[in-house]
Amino acid sequence: MLVLDGKALAATIKEELKQEVDVIRQAAGKIPHLAAILVGDNPASQVYVRNKVRSCEQIGFRSTLIRMPEDVTQSEILTEVAKLNNDPDVDGFIVQLPLPKHIDEDQINLAIEPRKDVDGFTPVNIGLMTLGLPSYLPATPNGIMTMLERYGIQTTGKEVVVLGRSNIVGTPMTVLLSRKGEPGNATVTLCHSRTEDMAFHTKRADILIAAIGRPEMITADMVKEGAVIIDVGINRVDDATKKRGYRLCGDIDYAGLESKVSAMTPVPGGVGPMTVVSLLMNTLQASKS
Ligand code: NDP
Repeated sequence: MLVLDGKALAATIKEELKQEVDVIRQAAGKIPHLAAILVGDNPASQVYVRNKVRSCEQIGFRSTLIRMPEDVTQSEILTEVAKLNNDPDVDGFIVQLPLPKHIDEDQINLAIEPRKDVDGFTPVNIGLMTLGLPSYLPATPNGIMTMLERYGIQTTGKEVVVLGRSNIVGTPMTVLLSRKGEPGNATVTLCHSRTEDMAFHTKRADILIAAIGRPEMITADMVKEGAVIIDVGINRVDDATKKRGYRLCGDIDYAGLESKVSAMTPVPGGVGPMTVVSLLMNTLQASKS
């Protein structure tokens, strides 16, 4: 089985980006600048934002982290978003999700200036993507597309089954994989919690993309021999043998599938690093526009 090593691939792409930033610096051009708003102290969000900021530093981007307390108000976040929208120094910014329950995420998303929406979550960018026009593509689905392309995994004519219909992963994934061109040209099925007999669909998949957030739910009996498996899920499960008391796993039973499938992403070190790389690519694009 081929391990789809997102960590290694992300390192290669980051090196390419770093070289591009060096050229920009030598030409005294604009150094890309990414800002991130982090609300509260959700441990997973802290790790994700830290990775994004560290990645910016590694490749020579500028980065700004704006921390806001858990009890922040909707209007305080909106004020911060407006500042970033209007700051000519900032090329792109993200608001790390999830936000605390008392905050209306949709309202925050709608307030982000599409030209700075390097997460690709605003309606304008989602609309442009759906029409096949140039836009900032959502980071995780685009990271998966880059991974498929760089590993030479053909999608044309393939049966692709996507599990999970979120606005940030599953739904845009189906748009990108069904559009014309390679990677794309796939026949795509989207499953969710109301799907009857999910295994019927997963067993047909040449490429299975799981983004449901259910630890190791997809087992060997649910997949086709030789399938390509992309595991987006990041789940914490209790593990007393670990110092921190938990381990990370995906939505796929990795050990159970290893001898049956042709290629698979590990968790961690698969889709996660590719998501960060997509964000960096979008930020570079934003700095040039
Ligand atoms: P959401 O919680 O927004 O969506 C989950 C989706 O899975 C929903 O569509 C839901 O269906 C579906 N679902 C849940 N349970 C089942 C089930 N038992 N059977 C079938 N479908 C089910 O999640 P996200 O898309 O935000 O994230 C999914 C996972 O990916 C999470 O583990 C998250 O941590 C991870 N993630 C990883 C990233 C990375 O970079 N690697 C980036 C983003 C997310 P319904 O719509 O009917 O409720």
